[in-house]
Amino acid sequence: DQTQYYRDTWAEIDLEALRQNVKSIRDGLPRETKMFAAVKANAYGHGIVQIAKEALQAGAHGLVVALLDEALVLRQSGVQAPILVLGLIRSADAGVAARHDISVPAFQMDWLKEAMEAIDPADPPLKLHIKCDTGMGRIGLKSEAELKDIEQFIYRHHDFFELEGIFTHFSTADQMSEVYYQRQLALFKTFVSSLQQTPPYVHAANSAGALCHTDSLFNAVRVGIAIYGLSVSQERPPSVKRKQVFSLHTKIVHVKKINPGESISYGAGYKAKDEEWIATIPVGYADGWLRKLEGQRVIAGGRRAYIVGRICMDQTMIKLPEYMPVGTKVTLIGGQGQGDFIPVEEIAGKLETINYEVTCTINFRVPRIYK
Ligand code: PLP
Repeated sequence: DQTQYYRDTWAEIDLEALRQNVKSIRDGLPRETKMFAAVKANAYGHGIVQIAKEALQAGAHGLVVALLDEALVLRQSGVQAPILVLGLIRSADAGVAARHDISVPAFQMDWLKEAMEAIDPADPPLKLHIKCDTGMGRIGLKSEAELKDIEQFIYRHHDFFELEGIFTHFSTADQMSEVYYQRQLALFKTFVSSLQQTPPYVHAANSAGALCHTDSLFNAVRVGIAIYGLSVSQERPPSVKRKQVFSLHTKIVHVKKINPGESISYGAGYKAKDEEWIATIPVGYADGWLRKLEGQRVIAGGRRAYIVGRICMDQTMIKLPEYMPVGTKVTLIGGQGQGDFIPVEEIAGKLETINYEVTCTINFRVPRIYK
């Protein structure tokens, strides 16, 4: 409900699109493959609690987050589904995770020994997913010897730990070339088959893994970018039709006609060639609408307009194709119902980055409105 905010700049989150995306991804997976929705980083900027709940209702089996703090936010909001933290938590916080039924990764013997100290024998056992580094080079164990030691340690201390899963992460699942991907997959399979006992969850695929490949699904996948209706690969064509969940809008707060030769914004870098209609919109780099977006097109009152002059901290100027009144809706990402549409990927291109970074960068100052 937008009335509780006092600014006319907002991100609209299309929950129906999210539900459709989750369902269509779910429908494309084998029945036995469980889908974990990645809702870390405030659900890629979409809003962690709302997205988590919708994704679960639409068919996700569980959730993955990056931090224990994110997992706790979900538990505190009443989410009871399985939650896995992907990053290493502090060993001292193992008891907190255990008490809230939050699964965490394990891949270091020292960490396990310290974590055991932090778990009260009265706590439920901490659920662990062994993380294997098969080529991402980020976190995870790298040898079968380490894997066997850790597996045995977990089984030996079953009062404190429960082995719930084993996983890895691909670094090139979105690329056309399969060589590196196949090498990671083969290594992961060796790790899995060297376990004494296969744990309930075996998972490797992210969105690109789950949608562009069929050989790495195991019995669970971790899907992030695809549920938000964003492109999973710059190289591969999309396999399932999905709808962009995120859009960004504002309203014109000031309109004026300027004369040829007059300048706009810091540095007086933009100079009007003719008489021009210039509007000011209340959004800027402090919202995550970054300065590099100077020159980017927007949709003002259904028509194309362009950002002129430097983007300021809280305000931006656009050149209108014709006069428009104060209050006219301006769309920076997404569309206005019909006609023109600005994909997140277009903004990513302008910023020379990836779509993930765009929605994560639009920050807390911009209210999320759920539709
Ligand atoms: N699994 C891990 C370990 C991740 O770090 C991420 C996100 O970066 C994901 C899954 C989800 O990836 P994607 O958004 O590409 O589906």
